[in-house]
Amino acid sequence: MKLHCEVEVVSRHLPALGLRNRGKGVRAVLSLCQQAPRTPPGPRAGGERGGRHPACLFISTLKDKRGTRYELKENIEQFFTKFVDEGKATVRLKEPPMDICLSKANSSSLKSFLSAVRLAHRGCDVEAPLSTLTPVKTSEFEKFKTKMVITSKKDYPLSKNFPYSLEHLQTSYCGLVRVDMRMLCLKNLRKLDLSHNHIKKLPATIGDLIHLQELNLNDNHLESFSVALCQSTLQKSLQSLDISKNKIKALPVQFCQLRELIYLKLDDNELIRLPFKMGQLRNLRFLSAARNKLPFLPSEFKNLSLEYLDLFGNTFEQPKVLPVIHLQMPLTLLESSARTILYNRIPYGSHIIPFHLCQDLDTAKTCVCGRYSISSFIQGTTTMNLHSVAHTVVLVDNMGGTEAPVISYFCSLACYVNSCDMLK
Ligand SMILES: [Zn+2]
Repeated sequence: MKLHCEVEVVSRHLPALGLRNRGKGVRAVLSLCQQAPRTPPGPRAGGERGGRHPACLFISTLKDKRGTRYELKENIEQFFTKFVDEGKATVRLKEPPMDICLSKANSSSLKSFLSAVRLAHRGCDVEAPLSTLTPVKTSEFEKFKTKMVITSKKDYPLSKNFPYSLEHLQTSYCGLVRVDMRMLCLKNLRKLDLSHNHIKKLPATIGDLIHLQELNLNDNHLESFSVALCQSTLQKSLQSLDISKNKIKALPVQFCQLRELIYLKLDDNELIRLPFKMGQLRNLRFLSAARNKLPFLPSEFKNLSLEYLDLFGNTFEQPKVLPVIHLQMPLTLLESSARTILYNRIPYGSHIIPFHLCQDLDTAKTCVCGRYSISSFIQGTTTMNLHSVAHTVVLVDNMGGTEAPVISYFCSLACYVNSCDMLK
C-alpha cells in the first residue's frame, strides 16, 4: 500500500534545542511494508505470530529512494487528522520522537492509508495489500512534476500521459493543430503555453481548467476567440492572455467579461475593432495591439487605466469632421424602454425577453452623459491622447504621435452640441 504526498519529518527535540523545522515538505512515497527479518529466518525466528511480521512504514524521497523505516506496532502516540479532508495529517511516533507531517495528499487515499497505519499500530493484520520492499523508482516521483517545458516535436509525449500534478505546461514548436485533450485533464494547471504551433480553434473545455491564470497562444492559426470561453470559469482565473500573431479579426463583446485580465497581447492579428466594452477590463494594466487594422478605438477605451499601451502600426483614420446622425424623433417604444432598462439597471436575460433584445441591450452605446442608446444616436469621432489612459505609451506611428481617434456616441442632439462646446 502506497501514498503519494509531501512529507516533513520533524523531531520533537528540535524546539528544546532552540531549532525550528523548515515548514516545508518534500515529495515522498510512503509505503506500508511487511518488515523483513534482519537475519535469515532460523528455526526460532519464525515463531513471531506464525511467521508474520508486523507492518512498518517506509518513507522514500527522490534523494533517498530506498527509504527510511519506521516501526508502527504500538509505536504511535497520536494521529492529528483535523485537516484530513484537505489532504493533511500528522502521525506522532513514540520512538523515535518524531512527527510525520503529511500534506498535499489525495484526501481519500490519505484516509485509507491512515486507517491501515492504525491497524499496523494495533498489531492487527493490514487488510490492504502491503508493498514489497523495493526502492521506489524515479518515475514514481515524476508524477509529482509541476512544470514541464517541451520545445520540439520529438520530445512531445505521444504514448505517455502528462503528469497529473502539472501546474505549468509549455509545448511550443510541436506542430500541434489542435489542443491536446490530455492537457484539459490537468486540473492544477495555472500556466499553459501553446505558442508557436498551428492551432486553429480552441476547445470550449479550456474553460474547465479552473486555475488557469496564464494562457499563451502566440503564433498560431486562430481565427476567433469564442464566446463560450469568455463565459467560462476563465472569467475568475485568467490574468494573462497572449493571442498575438494569429488571424483574429474581432473579439466578441463578451470578451470584456474576462474581468481578471491584467496582461493582454493582441499584436499582429487582423483586428478591425476592439471590443467596445473594453473599459470594463478594470484590472488591465498591459495592453498591446500593435500591427492590426484598427481604424479607431471604442469610446469606453477612455475608462482604462494602464501602465503600458502599444497600438503601433494600426490603420487609424483621421477623425471625421461631420458626425453620423441616426436620431429617431420621437423615440420608438423599443428605444425608450431599452434606455429605461439600462439607465435603471433593471436585470434582464433571455429567460425574460427575446434573445435578440438581450443582444441589443448588451451592445448599447454609452453617451457622454452616462445614458444609453440602442439605435437612436449621433456618432462622432474625436481624438484622444493615449497618455490619458496609460503611463507608458508606444508611439502609434513613425511620426511620433501618441494620439488616436475614438468613436463617441451621443444620445441626443443636446448632448452632441454640449460636447462640441466643451471641445472648443
Ligand atoms: Zn447623452
